Amino acid sequence: MDKWIWQKEQEIDYITIPHWREQGVIMAFSSRNGGVSPSPFQSLNMGLHVGDQAELVWANRQRFIDLWGLGLEQMVCCQQVHGSQVVCVSSEMSGLGAKDYNTSISGIDAMITDQTGIILATFYADCQPVFFFDPQKRVVGLAHSGWKGTMGRIVSNTVNTMVHVYGSKAENLEVFIGPGIGPCCFQIQADLAKKVTAAFPEFDGIIDRNREISWDLSLTNRKILDQAGIDPNKIMECGLCTSCNKDSFFSYRRENGKTGRMMAVIGLQ
Ligand SMILES: [Zn+2]
Repeated sequence: MDKWIWQKEQEIDYITIPHWREQGVIMAFSSRNGGVSPSPFQSLNMGLHVGDQAELVWANRQRFIDLWGLGLEQMVCCQQVHGSQVVCVSSEMSGLGAKDYNTSISGIDAMITDQTGIILATFYADCQPVFFFDPQKRVVGLAHSGWKGTMGRIVSNTVNTMVHVYGSKAENLEVFIGPGIGPCCFQIQADLAKKVTAAFPEFDGIIDRNREISWDLSLTNRKILDQAGIDPNKIMECGLCTSCNKDSFFSYRRENGKTGRMMAVIGLQ
């Protein structure tokens, strides 16, 4: 599997996977740089629900998807309620959540589509974006996996939906686990650690109790994907911590909640 890279276009830094781009997949994760929002949302804030001005967020979103010649009316967003429900997106859902958070698909944290002309979009400040591509059936997916979504195994729900609805074979799927809060910064309380261990008794190494207790969300998602039948050679992990990398990313935990959001997008050309 090819690696992910940083790309810079029109003053905007973003993460992408050249190997997917070559196959007609628009796939990107934005950094915080290259937008128009003021502090504490400086500058490429993509979140409409964080207290920033809507007009600035629209401009930031447009600036980003302009890189692929797309319009806001092609974006599809879900509410991101830290659940583990998945929805299949079709072109009539185009534009939901793009300009008004209240029109986002309710109760949903993961989206899948096999249709061209729309772009799935989710928003982040520490939770993990997990991107899916089936090169055989030409289906893409995107899951918002914070700690609650990880506990709810949202990534295996996404795989199962791709298999049952679109006829994907798990072993054909390629998956990218994007940037999120790393075990270096994701300290948790003992009672949560206990719940994590109870939820994943078969997973070694996801909780570190050396000094403070920390949880490795990326490793947990990798192990869930493994169990769901994904070929380990087809799972890519970004490994960058959103809390450590202040110049590149917004981080909810680092900024005590007052911050912007990065945007993950995936779609078929
Ligand atoms: Zn960190």
